[in-house]
Amino acid sequence: MEAIRRIHHITAIVGDPNENLKFYRDVLGLRLIKQTVNFDDPGVYHLYFSNDNVTPGTVITFFPWSNENHGRKGSGQVGRIAFRVPKGNLSLWKEHLDGQNIKSELTQLFGKDTLEFDDIHGLELAIVEGEETSEMDKILGFHGAVLLSDNPEGTKELLTGQMGLNELDIEGQNHHFETVGAEKHHIITAIPPQPAGRFGIGTVHHIAWSVPDMDVLKAWQSALREEGFEVTVVKDRSYFNSIYLGERGNVVFEFATDGPGFEIDEDMAALGTALKLPEQYEHRRPEYERLLPKLDI
Ligand code: ZN
Repeated sequence: MEAIRRIHHITAIVGDPNENLKFYRDVLGLRLIKQTVNFDDPGVYHLYFSNDNVTPGTVITFFPWSNENHGRKGSGQVGRIAFRVPKGNLSLWKEHLDGQNIKSELTQLFGKDTLEFDDIHGLELAIVEGEETSEMDKILGFHGAVLLSDNPEGTKELLTGQMGLNELDIEGQNHHFETVGAEKHHIITAIPPQPAGRFGIGTVHHIAWSVPDMDVLKAWQSALREEGFEVTVVKDRSYFNSIYLGERGNVVFEFATDGPGFEIDEDMAALGTALKLPEQYEHRRPEYERLLPKLDI
């Protein structure tokens, strides 16, 4: 198989949707690009955010749960999610977070200065500097993510084998990998494994890897099944098609096509401004509009 070039999106479970919107739009400066429902649990929003230009590989999405069902972080999940900012911006972000009363801590988690903090619902985030650019103050996209594998060797085998990530030489016991695309997304498998996690508010549900099109997606489906993975059928997610599997360390991986993209049901300028439903749920629109909290757009 051709190597995976980048992260497609990362999806996490959070609390109140307006608190989620305020944090990612107003504190982190991301753009809400889609309001829809969780296609597998349509009483819940599925909110998509990205950078201003909706660049592939910058999309983070949320299932905001209205219950009080908090998760437990642990193995079988994606851990801390890192965003990349322009070189020289880390201290500006530290000041910005301080100004918002968000506690942050400078570490070396990603093998260089890493500003760690949590979102409003306890989801673990970080900011890491990338290259110099003119887009000061802005999150450019993902820097990478930690995988809380309960079998780091098994996870490494898939990442560096079929998925083609390069292993980096970094001191410390965690394994560090990099995708081969221009984005060079940085993936860490945390060692040693932690006790098993439980999905709920403040935890990541899955990480999706980008594949170019449906033919390549189907080729991945066959190749992964041949390796003994249990892989789902191809799911139509409106904005992309995808397959899911539990990798050997129990982290949920999704492989998702780049197209058809977020502009299939609204124009670029209008992205995220209205509730969009796939055809199979359109007849239930009045029910969702009554039940889902109104977003503070
Ligand atoms: Zn997904």
